[in-house]
Amino acid sequence: MNISDILDWIFPKKCVGCGKYGSYVCSDCEVGLWEEEQICPTCGRNSRNGLRHKYCKGDLEGLTCLWTYEGITRKLITKTKYNFYFDYLREFSIFNFQFSNNSQFFNFQKFLKTKPVVVPVPLHPKRLRERGFNQAEIIAKSFAARHSLACNSHLLSRIKETKPQVGRTREERLSAMSGAFTTSPLPLSLFKEREIRTPSAVILVDDVWTTGATMRECARVLKKAGVKQVWGFVLAR
Ligand SMILES: [Zn+2]
Ligand SMILES: [Zn+2]
Repeated sequence: MNISDILDWIFPKKCVGCGKYGSYVCSDCEVGLWEEEQICPTCGRNSRNGLRHKYCKGDLEGLTCLWTYEGITRKLITKTKYNFYFDYLREFSIFNFQFSNNSQFFNFQKFLKTKPVVVPVPLHPKRLRERGFNQAEIIAKSFAARHSLACNSHLLSRIKETKPQVGRTREERLSAMSGAFTTSPLPLSLFKEREIRTPSAVILVDDVWTTGATMRECARVLKKAGVKQVWGFVLAR
C-alpha cells in the first residue's frame, strides 16, 4: 500500500457532482464539463485556437481555456479555492487533457514545443498565508509535470493586494492592477551571471479567467523583464 492508497482509504474520493464514491468527478458527471470556446486574450471575442487577433495589441500571444465556468466545473474550482482539498485540483487539471486530438489546441501545442517555463499567477503573501496554498501554483505544477516542462513559481510576485475585478469598468480594473506584480526582486543581471536567464517563453497559469485583467498585467510585467512570448492557460472561463 503506498501513501496515496492510504490517503484514499482515510479520505475516500467522492464525486463533487453527485457524491458517489470512487473519484472526484464520476463518469456520469464528467459529461457536465463543457469545453469552452477559445477567445482572443486582448478583446475577449472568439478566436480560432485562442490566438490573439492580428489587429489586437497585447502581451499575451494566446489563451487556452479548457472548460466553461459553470455546473460541475464551478463546483470543483470553488471547492478547491476555499477548502484544503487541493488534491481535487491535481486530479482535475491533469485528467482530460487530450490536446493532441483537439484542433482548437493546435497553436497551444505548437507553443508547448518551444519548452516554455510554466509560471502561476501569484497570490499576495497575505492571501497565501490565509489560504495556505496558491491554487494556480498547484495547477501549474501538475501541468508542468505532465508536459515535462520547468515550473517557476518565484518569477512573478504580487506586491499589491487587489479586490475582485468583477463589476468594475475597464479603466478601474487597469488602475487597480497597475503595479500589482513584479518579477523576481533579484536584479536580472544577477540571474545572468548565474546563467539562470529570463525564460524566452512562458505559460502563465491561473484557475479562472474572469476579466483577464490579472493575466494581462502579469504578461506585461513578464515581457518587460525580457520574456519574448507569453501564452495564458486557465482551467475555466
Ligand atoms: Zn458524479
Ligand atoms: Zn482580439
